[in-house]
Amino acid sequence: MDLFTLEGRVAVVTGGNGGIGLGMARGLAMAGASIIVAARDAHKNEAAVQELKALSVNAMAVETDVRKSDSCQSMFEAATKSYGGVDILVNNAGMNIRRQPQEYDLEDWNTVLETNLTSAMLCSKFAHPIMVKRGGGKIINIGSMMSIFGAPFASAYAASKGGIVQFTKACASAWASDNIQVNAVLPGWIDTDLTRRGRKEVSGLHEKVLARTPAGRWGDPEDHAGVAIFLSGKGSDFVTGAAITVDGGFSIQA
Ligand code: NDP
Repeated sequence: MDLFTLEGRVAVVTGGNGGIGLGMARGLAMAGASIIVAARDAHKNEAAVQELKALSVNAMAVETDVRKSDSCQSMFEAATKSYGGVDILVNNAGMNIRRQPQEYDLEDWNTVLETNLTSAMLCSKFAHPIMVKRGGGKIINIGSMMSIFGAPFASAYAASKGGIVQFTKACASAWASDNIQVNAVLPGWIDTDLTRRGRKEVSGLHEKVLARTPAGRWGDPEDHAGVAIFLSGKGSDFVTGAAITVDGGFSIQA
């Protein structure tokens, strides 16, 4: 038995058209999974699909806004119609609006919470009956160092990412009897569009991350391919409700 093959499996990756989502989608594709890229930008979606198809797997994009329930539901319908079901869901789509806590208005707060946390609830809820029909499944929720730590500019983001860890544990306990394992991945500081913006907005962030990360570098999206394969395959069938850091040691050094 190959503990890491994903041949015959179907994976939905929200925000799979760039950054960490695409890094994970590449890993899942390398292990043989068919991929559904679920994100908003049609051009980025198409480019990601072409890249994934070059790895000799099935790949399609469904334009999806994870803040909208109908959009998530239609995406799962399209995935099921095309590939017969879904075995793996990566709840990766996310964003940040950086402000001091007293400066958030309700709209900005809701935008962050809906994109990063409510989206995971919606997609997991629609994935659940499909996975039950297939005899089980794997859900990977993307947290952050802000699932553990706070930062002055990240109250909404930290609330959403702390929530992701607790949501993960709740779903893991609810769905263990359905043979669905639910885990969280907490990336460290990874070089993507999100953090390129962050480095412009938060002075000194780049150097601070380098100084504190024992690995001595920022992470790459590709650093998340291996953990995605592990948490999606048979090798992790007794791993559920965990929050696994992929951070070059950032969170273990004071
Ligand atoms: P990017 O900005 O590179 O990617 C974000 C992805 O989310 C894009 O694919 C984007 O696609 C998608 N997305 C955003 N809003 C929506 C929406 N409403 N509906 C559907 N898709 C959406 O960021 P990262 O790759 O850095 O981030 C990915 C995840 O990793 C996020 O959850 C982030 O919080 C988390 N993370 C990132 C870290 C880092 O250092 N980079 C560290 C810790 C966690 P589109 O715009 O086309 O919809």
